[in-house]
Amino acid sequence: MLDQAPHPTALGILKDVFGYDAFRGKQAAIIERVAAGGDALVLMPTGGGKSLCFQVPGLLREGLAVVVSPLIALMEDQVSTLDELGVAAVALNSTLSNDEQRDIAERIRRGEIKFLYVAPERLVQPRMLAFLQGLQIGLFAIDEAHCVSQWGHDFRPEYLQLGQLAELFPHVPRIALTATADMRTREEIVQRLHLENAERFLSSFDRPNIFYRILPKDQPRKQLLAFLTARKGDAGIVYCLSRKKVEEVAEFLSGQGYPALPYHAGLPNELRAYNQKRFLNEEGLIMVATIAFGMGIDKPNVRFVAHLDLPKSLEAYYQETGRAGRDGLPADAWMAYGLQDVIFLKQMLSNSEGDERHKRVEQHKLDAMLALCEETRCRRQALLAYFDEELPQPCGHCDNCIDGVQTWDATEPARQALSAIYRSGQRYGVGHLVDILLGRENDKIRAPGHQHLTVFGMGKALNEGEWRTLFRQLVARGLADVDLDGYGGLRLSDTCRPLLRGEVSLQLRRDLKPQQAAKASGSS
Ligand code: ADP
Ligand code: ZN
Repeated sequence: MLDQAPHPTALGILKDVFGYDAFRGKQAAIIERVAAGGDALVLMPTGGGKSLCFQVPGLLREGLAVVVSPLIALMEDQVSTLDELGVAAVALNSTLSNDEQRDIAERIRRGEIKFLYVAPERLVQPRMLAFLQGLQIGLFAIDEAHCVSQWGHDFRPEYLQLGQLAELFPHVPRIALTATADMRTREEIVQRLHLENAERFLSSFDRPNIFYRILPKDQPRKQLLAFLTARKGDAGIVYCLSRKKVEEVAEFLSGQGYPALPYHAGLPNELRAYNQKRFLNEEGLIMVATIAFGMGIDKPNVRFVAHLDLPKSLEAYYQETGRAGRDGLPADAWMAYGLQDVIFLKQMLSNSEGDERHKRVEQHKLDAMLALCEETRCRRQALLAYFDEELPQPCGHCDNCIDGVQTWDATEPARQALSAIYRSGQRYGVGHLVDILLGRENDKIRAPGHQHLTVFGMGKALNEGEWRTLFRQLVARGLADVDLDGYGGLRLSDTCRPLLRGEVSLQLRRDLKPQQAAKASGSS
């Protein structure tokens, strides 16, 4: 029909509706695919711009665009953004009254709504599906698609039911999006959501402007201050595991002249919201927080993310450090980690709810995190390899690349350490074991008669700090296990047998000396 306005183009919508000049990365290709009616699987790091990948085709196609999202906060965020842009969008969630819901349904029927955001459990209700089948649907977008994977870190059973969309709406394109997906999760998404015909769009997860550094925890507050000295006036996030520590560290930093605010789920809502707002709007504040902080935080000029405690997986580490340097300017991911972290997380894991299978998965994830800490090659290569992405060359922009890593043959001392664990009955903590190895006769040693053990005093070739490092590394590598009774005693694990039998040798990373570490943590 000649008299009609020309069809809008993707680029036209990007400019006119969203006010941006150009697509980023694979956005254009993804949008073209979905707008033409094809399925797509999109892997893009957080902040990469996933929303436009379904919002633009949603506007290009006739009918209602249905967006499945697991998080109410995220939905409402997007709905209000679209609203401000003049795009009719609504979120159906449990907070709405029956009247409001009926009203929304009516507006959808009249074709007044372009985007419907809905939680997965809501979407798959038979009434809801029947309602949608009576409408023209432009596309389905399934956000946070990794939630369908049992292997993934936040499996949601209701996602499994989204597989039926393929059958119920065979002619409606479906686009699944996620920021976390190793190969295995990716295959699970395809299989469970029936996306066999989806074109896959994989973006690099590399964040080249982030400098990664992980150092052994020694005097964490002092180490943190050394790191911060060169970053006065920068905005940053310091992650801690416990609420108590969050408050203590925030107070400590403030006392040291670094304006810092606490954030954790135990604070009153108003204070939390207030601190978050200040962090977003003021310059140069440090947010000291538990992992409760960060979801949906879009502050581009966060200059550093520091971890005073170990995250429980590389997925978490990547997400949390990924909040630094969204603006593309140089930023730091800094972490201090020690044996106590390992012991604590292992205990938490063993005490957690959940079946054995789930615990095994979590254990595996923690092991991968620990491996990154003890990594002797390029950190970035190791991190990306975990997400099944190969970086051909060492990055030249991480501590290991810049400082180099010394390794040493720890086979003999490791055997002595394991022997000390075994002969003392597999229930003592590192302090006691080090006393045995160094031949320190004190009351705690004498009480069980440990001065008579053959390993007593055998380990004088290493000093106390070196032994502590070695024990940490043995636990990190799974050669020794932590007793889970809460006292942190060590015992042997099955995997240490070949080492004890002399069948394999052990190369370990050498910790930097304290003064080297202090120097190193100040520069990037
Ligand atoms: P994700 O969902 O992948 O984490 P978002 O879709 O929230 O990322 O996008 C992150 C930020 O980047 C948002 O502020 C968004 O407006 C912006 N953005 C996305 N695509 C573009 C683009 N092509 N040009 C400019 N800004 C963009
Ligand atoms: Zn590197």
